Amino acid sequence: MNETAVYEHLTTELKSINCMHGFLEIRRVPELKRELESRLHKGQLDTAFFVKNLERLEVSAPTRFAEVNSLIIIAAPLPLTRLIFEYQGRGRPVQIPPFYVFKDKLAAIRKALGRSLGAAGYQIADARVPLKLAAIRSGLARYGRNNLAYIQGMGSFHRLVAFYTDLPAPADAWFRLSEMEECTSCGFCLGNCHTDCLNPDAGNRFLARAEKCLTLYNEEPGELPSWITPWLHNSLIGCMRCQSSCPLNRTFIRNVPISDTFNEPEAMAILATPVFGDLPGALQEKLVKYDLQDYYDLVPRNLKFLLEWEL
Ligand code: SF4
Ligand code: SF4
Repeated sequence: MNETAVYEHLTTELKSINCMHGFLEIRRVPELKRELESRLHKGQLDTAFFVKNLERLEVSAPTRFAEVNSLIIIAAPLPLTRLIFEYQGRGRPVQIPPFYVFKDKLAAIRKALGRSLGAAGYQIADARVPLKLAAIRSGLARYGRNNLAYIQGMGSFHRLVAFYTDLPAPADAWFRLSEMEECTSCGFCLGNCHTDCLNPDAGNRFLARAEKCLTLYNEEPGELPSWITPWLHNSLIGCMRCQSSCPLNRTFIRNVPISDTFNEPEAMAILATPVFGDLPGALQEKLVKYDLQDYYDLVPRNLKFLLEWEL
């Protein structure tokens, strides 16, 4: 099969699971990390944030390939997940942002890559690269003023994943890091961020203060800094405020059905059980449907914030 046919087959397979993709030439990959380092040196990224989140990214291609030619960045659309937890006699809405419930979609992506690239004899390996930056440089995504990546037809309701492959990139894409034109006369996200992460005075997405983002903290177990007051939490993990206020996400926010209800004994069991394996089997199964076993070290703490603050 010639390369053009492989590109077409890849596109067809990814489209069949509603995913989109972009390519970067392999020589571009180290530039992604250099770009982040340059922001650090210009004082646009907090040092502690950089060390904790970005330094561990790997930008060297896998050595087990004879030849690694490109990086494929894939965007998978994901919905907002809405749950109800009954607590103290009332059903309480709890949301999971469109990022965390991903296992099934990732499995489907791997299969689609296998059917297209794998079947044509190309190799694939997971890549830990700065995904948002890679998506934007490849032309797959655009930056919103809220510092999120936006994809045509998905808004910011998606998750990115990247793979190395020996299939050459079809072109040397390296798109500008410009903000979406829709942001010019908007700014809703700035007003809806309550942690001062999106600095309206700066008017520049690169000055988003990532170290002030709630997501950074409530995705980690343990005690939260004292400036994160309980009322700031709005999701079981992460934060939805700048996404839910964005006009480009309006269609994805409307009419989201309730996926499940956790009754009061189940809610109480979660609040009282720090270890996933100690939960009753049926409750474990219910949480697994939302990939919450992977985040369970955060779930009782974060759920407590949501249930107790709204009383
Ligand atoms: S995710 Fe939340 S804390 Fe982070 S920028 Fe958006 S609104 Fe602010
Ligand atoms: S809310 Fe407005 S300014 Fe913010 S990312 Fe969306 S379109 Fe851009």
